[in-house]
Amino acid sequence: MGRRPHVLIIPFPAQGHVTPLMKFAYQISDHGIKVTFVNSDFIHEKLVAALPDEDEARSRIGLASIPDGLGPGEDRKDSLKLTDSIFRVMPGHLKEFMEKVNNSNDDEKITCVIADSAFGWALEVADKMGIKRVAFCPFGPGSLALAFHIPRLIEAGLLNSTDGSLLNDELISLAKDIPAFSSNKLPWSCPSDPNLQKVIFQFAFKDISAMNLSNWLLCNSVYELDSSACDLIPNILPIGPLLANNHLGHYPGNFWPEDSTCISWLDKQPAGSVIYVAFGSLAILSQHQFNELALGIELVGRPFLWVVRSDFTNGSDAEYPDGFTERVAENGKIVSWAPQEKVLAHPSVACFLSHCGWNSTMDGIGMGVPFLCWPYVVDQFHNQSYICDKWKVGLGLNPDENGFISRHEIKKKIEMLVSDDGIKANVEKLKEMTRKSVSEGGSSYKNFQTFVEVMKQ
Ligand code: UDP
Repeated sequence: MGRRPHVLIIPFPAQGHVTPLMKFAYQISDHGIKVTFVNSDFIHEKLVAALPDEDEARSRIGLASIPDGLGPGEDRKDSLKLTDSIFRVMPGHLKEFMEKVNNSNDDEKITCVIADSAFGWALEVADKMGIKRVAFCPFGPGSLALAFHIPRLIEAGLLNSTDGSLLNDELISLAKDIPAFSSNKLPWSCPSDPNLQKVIFQFAFKDISAMNLSNWLLCNSVYELDSSACDLIPNILPIGPLLANNHLGHYPGNFWPEDSTCISWLDKQPAGSVIYVAFGSLAILSQHQFNELALGIELVGRPFLWVVRSDFTNGSDAEYPDGFTERVAENGKIVSWAPQEKVLAHPSVACFLSHCGWNSTMDGIGMGVPFLCWPYVVDQFHNQSYICDKWKVGLGLNPDENGFISRHEIKKKIEMLVSDDGIKANVEKLKEMTRKSVSEGGSSYKNFQTFVEVMKQ
C-alpha cells in the first residue's frame, strides 16, 4: 500500500471561506485522507476558542497556523493592510511550515495543497515544491465565470482595470442562462467602500494565477444548478452542497461559539412557522436599519429566530428598539451564532431572511427553504439574481426613497413569501436536485470520488 495522502488546506481568513473548506476537510478525511488545516494564527485562535470540545475535533483534522504578519491588536478589518501583510509574509511562513512537515516524517509528506482561489501565492509555493495543487472557489460558478472573462472585458474597454467598475451602462452577459451583470451586481461590488472594491477586485478576482496554477478548481455548487456557468470554467469540479449535517457534534469551523439552544426552541414551534434571519459573518447594519428590521419581524407576528452577531450594528453591540426584547420574549429567539445548517433543516422553519452569501445560499437551497433576499456586498447581489430570477426560490426587498428597507416592506414580503406555493415547490425541487447530486451516481458525488481517487494516486 502506498503512503497515506496528506492534504494541506489553506483558506482565506474569513468565515465564509473557512466554513466550506472545513466541511470539505471532514468529507475527505472520511475517505482516509490526512488533512492539515492551516489558518492564520489570529483565525486559529478564534476557531479554537469557539470550540466546546477541542479533543474530538482535533483528532479528526490537524489544526495548524502561521502568522499573517500583523500584531495581535492590529486592525484586521483594514482589508488593504491585511491583504498586503498576508501577501508579504505568509508565503515564506507557509514554505517553512511545509518543509518542516515534510522533513519530520517520511510517511506524512504533503501530497497536495488546496488553497483559496484568492491565494495564488500558496499554490505557487506548492508548485515550486513539486506538490499537486487545487484551488477552492468560495463564490458561485457565475462569479467565477466572470473572473475568467476579466482580461477580455478589460481589453474590450468594458471594465476598469483598477477597480473593476463598468465603463458604460452595458450589461455583461456571459450566457443566456447566467443572470446578466449590471454595475451593482459585479461580484466585487462594494458601493459604500470604493477602496475595498479595489482590493477585492485586484486580489480575489483579477488575478486568476491561482486557477491557472491549479490542477482543479473546487466549488461549493452543483453542476445542474448552473451548468452554463460551469461549462465556461476550465477544470471546475462542483462538489456541493458542502454540508456538515452528517457529522455529529461540533467541528472547528466557527469564529463564534454556536448557540445550540435555538434547536430546542425550534422543536417547540409549529411546523413551517419560523422566520430564520441571518446575515452571515460580515454584514453590518446601521442602527436605524437594525431597528426597522427588528420592528419588521415583530410586525409579522410569527415566531422568529434571529442571529445577531456581537458586531452586527456598525461593529458594536446592537441596541434593540425600546421594549422590543420584552414584547418578543414569547415569540422570538435571538442568538449570536446559530448552527445554520441544522436550523435550516428544521421542520419548523418557514423562510430564510438572508444576505445571500454564497454559502448561505447553498445552505438554504440544500435544505429547501425559500429566501427573502437582503444582499449587502460583493457577490450577494448577483446571488440574489440567481435566487429570485433564475431559480425563482425567493423574493427581494425594495429600499424606500431614503435607501432603507422599512419594517412595512419586510412584513409585506415575508407574508408574500410564506404564502407563495410556487416558490415553495421550486425550492423543494432544487433541494431534491442537490440531494441527488451528492447521492451515489450524482454529479457532485462523482466529482468528489474523482477527486479522492486522484488524491490517492
Ligand atoms: N453561519 C453559521 N451560523 C450563523 C450564520 C452563518 O454557521 O449564525 C455560516 C453559514 O452556514 C455559512 C457561513 O456562516 O457557511 C457564512 O458564509 P456566507 O458565504 O453565507 O456569508 P459571509 O459570512 O461570507 O458573508
